[in-house]
Amino acid sequence: MGWRERWREMGLPVGIGAGLAVVIFLLFQGLDLIPWVLIAAIIYATIQLGGFRSLQHKITKTVKNGGKAGVTFEDVGGQGTAKKELLEALDFLVQRDLVKKLGIRPLKGILLSGPPGTGKTMLAKAAASYTKSAFLATSGAEFIEVYAGVGAQRVRDLFRRAREMAKREENDSAIIFIDEIEVLGGKRGQTNSHLEYDQTLNQLLVEMDGMNLEEGAQVLVMAATNRVDLLDPALLRPGRFDRLVRADLPDREGRRQILEIHAQNKPFAAAVDLDAVAKESFGFSGAHLESLTNEAAILAMREGKEEVEQGHLLEAIDKVIMGEKLERRPGKEELRRVAIHEGGHALVGERLRPGLVANITITSRGGALGYVRHAPQDDMYLQTKDYLEKDIAVLLAGSVAEEVVLGCRSTGAANDFEHALATAKKMVLAGMSEAGVVSEEIIPQSRLHRMVTGIIALQEKTARAILVEDRDILEKIAAILLDRESLSGDNLRSLLARQELPAMKTSDGGDVADLDALREVAAAGAAD
Ligand code: ADP
Ligand code: MG
Ligand code: ZN
Repeated sequence: MGWRERWREMGLPVGIGAGLAVVIFLLFQGLDLIPWVLIAAIIYATIQLGGFRSLQHKITKTVKNGGKAGVTFEDVGGQGTAKKELLEALDFLVQRDLVKKLGIRPLKGILLSGPPGTGKTMLAKAAASYTKSAFLATSGAEFIEVYAGVGAQRVRDLFRRAREMAKREENDSAIIFIDEIEVLGGKRGQTNSHLEYDQTLNQLLVEMDGMNLEEGAQVLVMAATNRVDLLDPALLRPGRFDRLVRADLPDREGRRQILEIHAQNKPFAAAVDLDAVAKESFGFSGAHLESLTNEAAILAMREGKEEVEQGHLLEAIDKVIMGEKLERRPGKEELRRVAIHEGGHALVGERLRPGLVANITITSRGGALGYVRHAPQDDMYLQTKDYLEKDIAVLLAGSVAEEVVLGCRSTGAANDFEHALATAKKMVLAGMSEAGVVSEEIIPQSRLHRMVTGIIALQEKTARAILVEDRDILEKIAAILLDRESLSGDNLRSLLARQELPAMKTSDGGDVADLDALREVAAAGAAD
C-alpha cells in the first residue's frame, strides 16, 4: 500500500479533525479566515476528486455509439463461426419480449477470445449496431490504479453510465465492451501487490449479478481476451460470461474476404488476384491484412501509380512480416506434417464417432499449429469405458498419422499425449483396467504405469488400423488442408461418404474435377 492510500485511509479523518480545531481556534483569534478556507478547500478538492476526474476523462474518451460508429457484421470478414454464434446469442437482446414472456434469464455476458487483431473489437461494435444498443468501450487496464478503491468505483460508474445511456437510446439497451479483461479479471489472490485487482473484479461480478434486476434498460457486457486461461473461473460461471465466442486467425478464404473488405476504399488494378495474396499471407490476422492493403497503397503512391497492383500487394506482405516481426509462413514440409497430423485426428475421430468434427484447420493460432474443433456435444457426467477409449484413440491419431505417412513422429504431439495419459489414468482409477478396482494411494506406481501404457498401446493400435486402411483419404484431407488451410466437418463427411461409394464419383461431374485437382495437389505434396 502506497503512502498516499494510507494517508487517504487514516490521515483524512485525523486531518479534518485537526483542521477543524485550528479553524475554531483561529476564529476565536478573530483572524480573516476566508482566503485560508478557500485554499484548504481547493487542496482538498484536488486530492479528493483527482481519481474521479481521471475516471470521468477516461470513460468519456472511450464512449462511442456503436450504432452510429457504423461497424456492421458485413465489415468483419472471415469470422463465419464467430459471427454465427454471436448472432444466436444476440437474439436474446433482439427478441426481448419473447425472452421475457418465456421467462428466460437474459444473457449478461459474452466473452470473445482469440489472438490480437482478429476483429474482436469490431465484432463487439457490430453487435451494438445490430442490436441498436449504445456502446461503451473500455479496457481492463483502465481499472487498475495506484489508488485503492478507484478501480471498483470505476466499475460502478461504468455500469451506471451504461444504464443511463441505454435509457436514452431507442432500444433501451447498452453494450459494455471491456477489452483485455484478463488485466482486471485475472485469477483472484494471484497478484501479490495488493488487493486492488480483487476488489475491482469483485465489483464487476457484483454489477453483473445485479444487472437487469430493475425494469427497463438492458445491459450486455462483452469482453475480449487472448488469454482465457488467465481468467478467474468466477467470471465464466452461468449468469456472467456464459457465452464464449472464439475469433481465430482467418484461413485462406477468410483472408481473401478480409482483403476484399479493405480493398473497397482503394483503387485496385483489375488484374489483382486477392486469392493469391491470401495464399501468400499465411498466419496474418485481420489487422495485418488491413495494414497489408495500406502498405500496398503506399508503395503504389511512391511509384506514382494510380492503382494498386499485384506486385505492390506481394511486396507489402514482406513489409508487414518485417514490421510486425511476424514469423514467416512455416516451411512446406512442416505444414504438410501439421496437415497430416490434424487430418489424422479428424479422420479417426469421424470414424469412431461420426459427426464429431466441426472444423479442421492448419492456420497457426498462438501455440498450436493446427487444430480440430469438435462439434458441441451434450454435457456428460458419466463416461463409459468405450467412450474414453475412443477419446484416447483420437488423441493419439495425430502422431500415429505422422508415423504412418511420414515415417516418424514429431514433438508436436506432446500435448496430445498428456491428455491421453491423463484419460488412461482416469480409466485405471475408475476400475476399467485389468487391475480391476484400485486405489490410487495403494496401487504401486509401476503397476499404474503398466496399466496406463497398456491402454495407450491398445488404442494406438486402433488408430493405426484406421489410418493404414484409410491412408489415401488421409492424404487427400492433408492435400485439401494444405491448399485451403481448413476443412469443415460437413465437407469431411461428404469426402468420406464419396470414398465409400466410388460410383458416385462419376455421377457427380463438378466433384470429379475437384477431386482430380486435389489429387494433383496431393501428388505435388508427396513429391517434395
Ligand atoms: P482485436 O480487437 O481482435 O484485437 P480489432 O477488432 O481491434 O481486433 O481489429 C483491428 C483492425 O484490424 C480493425 O480495425 C480492422 O481494420 C482490422 N480487422 C481485424 N479483423 C478483421 C476482420 N475479421 N475483418 C476485417 N477487418 C479486420
Ligand atoms: Mg481490439
Ligand atoms: Zn494433435
